[in-house]
Amino acid sequence: MLEITFLGTGAALPMYRGSNSAYLIRTDTACILFDCGPAILQQLDAVTVRPSELSHVFISHRHGDHALGFPMLVLAWALEQPPDQPLPTIVTSILTWASLETVLKHSYGDDIAVKCLQALPRILLPHDVPAQLTLADNIQMHTYPMNHSAFAPVLGAKFEIGATILAFTADTMPCETIVPMAKDADLLIHEANFSAILQPELAQGPYGHSTAQIAGRNAHAAQVKRLALVHLGSHLQGKEDIMREEAQREFSGIVSVPVAGVTYAF
Ligand SMILES: [Zn+2]
Repeated sequence: MLEITFLGTGAALPMYRGSNSAYLIRTDTACILFDCGPAILQQLDAVTVRPSELSHVFISHRHGDHALGFPMLVLAWALEQPPDQPLPTIVTSILTWASLETVLKHSYGDDIAVKCLQALPRILLPHDVPAQLTLADNIQMHTYPMNHSAFAPVLGAKFEIGATILAFTADTMPCETIVPMAKDADLLIHEANFSAILQPELAQGPYGHSTAQIAGRNAHAAQVKRLALVHLGSHLQGKEDIMREEAQREFSGIVSVPVAGVTYAF
């Protein structure tokens, strides 16, 4: 079994049916959460997944729309984790972990949540070079530095699950690591915060983000099978067809703009 569920596909500011970007990868042996914005407990609840069911949590970077749900996840584990159930493993960069730890300690002080934080298994990675790790039997994860923010360096990630490859850019403007990361992926989940059609002045991807055109070009160059556009800016609500068309001008495979709650099975 391999499924990916889109818990949210919005950008920094949530919009109707577009809460912050987060994804759930479920296999027979793992339940991996990718990013956790402020509404993550509600997003998990919407697909009837308890925080205690997570086996791994990956956090791409420390911007609030990707990380501010972390204290609430820790609180949920502290209060509800069944004693016979192992805590999930946190995977993130060393730099992002320092922020997560600080936010949790400033939120809950020296109490049960801090004890839970200290007990969390964690794998801390460099933010500026690629890394590889084994998450579970048959699940390899590769992280790659993206190009988003000097303050909040981003790790994109590729998951090799059996013969299936899922690749995630998280937040990024064009950079040379996207295509190697996404090479031959069954699904590339690429941010598209802007539109080159609707905002031609942003076609080169400034402000740390990408357009649907850039996502389409990367999907074509990496020869992926399918492209999902996510992290659409709130100004693009209702413009999903234009975003899809913008990417399809560059990429002949399947392009989708998923909404929260949608699951793809492989
Ligand atoms: Zn960001």
